[in-house]
Amino acid sequence: MTSRQILVIASRNPGKTAEIRELLQGFPVSIRNLDDFGPVPEAVEDGLTFEENAYKKAHFTAKVLGFPALADDSGLLVEALGGAPGVHSARYAGPEASDAERCAKLLDALAGRTDRRAAFACVLSLAVPAGPALTYEGRCEGLITRQPAGTNGFGYDPVFFHPPLQKTFAEMTRAEKGLVSHRGQALRELRNEFDKILVWIRQHMPDAPRQGCEAHR
Ligand code: IMP
Repeated sequence: MTSRQILVIASRNPGKTAEIRELLQGFPVSIRNLDDFGPVPEAVEDGLTFEENAYKKAHFTAKVLGFPALADDSGLLVEALGGAPGVHSARYAGPEASDAERCAKLLDALAGRTDRRAAFACVLSLAVPAGPALTYEGRCEGLITRQPAGTNGFGYDPVFFHPPLQKTFAEMTRAEKGLVSHRGQALRELRNEFDKILVWIRQHMPDAPRQGCEAHR
C-alpha cells in the first residue's frame, strides 16, 4: 500500500489550496491547509525579498505543525518605481485598502511616466521542519495600463497588461492567466519535479507520519 505524504499549504485561502490540490492530482500526496489545524500561529512576513518571505512562511508552518509545508510570496515590481511595490504589494495603500485603491495609488504614482514596464514575481518555498527547503520561481513581464480594464482576477490584475495576449490579467479567464502568470509558472515547475520532491521530503523527514492511501483529500 502506498502511503500518502501530507503537505500543508501555509495559507488559509481556499482558492489557493484548491488550485494546488488540482495541480498535484495523481501524486501520492494529501494536501491540507492551515484551516485543517485550527488556531495556528502565522509567520511574520517581514523579509526584504519574496524568497525570504516565502521561506519564513513555509519553514515556520513546517516547524509548528511537524509536516512539510509549501508557501508562496508574490508581488508586482514596477520599473519606474525602482521595483516598488515589490514585497509590499499587498499593503501598498495601507493595510485596510481595497484592491481598487491599490491600483489607483499605482496609477497615480505613474501619472505622466512613459516607462510602464513591470513584472509580477512569485516564489514558492517548500520546507521541512528541520529547515532545508526547495525554491521555485515564476515571473511574468508586462506593462502598467493608464486605467483599469477587466473584472476578473484580483489585486493589480486590472492594471497589468500582458502584450502577447493583448489583454490585462483581469480580462483573461483563470485558465488563460494560469498559462502565462508568475504563479502558474512556479506551480508548473513544482509539479514537473514533484516525483523528485517526494523523494527529497522522505529523505529529510524519514520518520514523518503519513496517511493511508484510502483517505483521499
Ligand atoms: P502575498 O499574498 O503576500 O503573496 O501578496 C501578494 C500581493 O501581490 C497581493 O495581495 C496582490 O496585491 C499582489 N499580487 C500577487 N500576485 C498577483 C496576481 O496574480 N494578480 C494581481 N495581483 C497580484
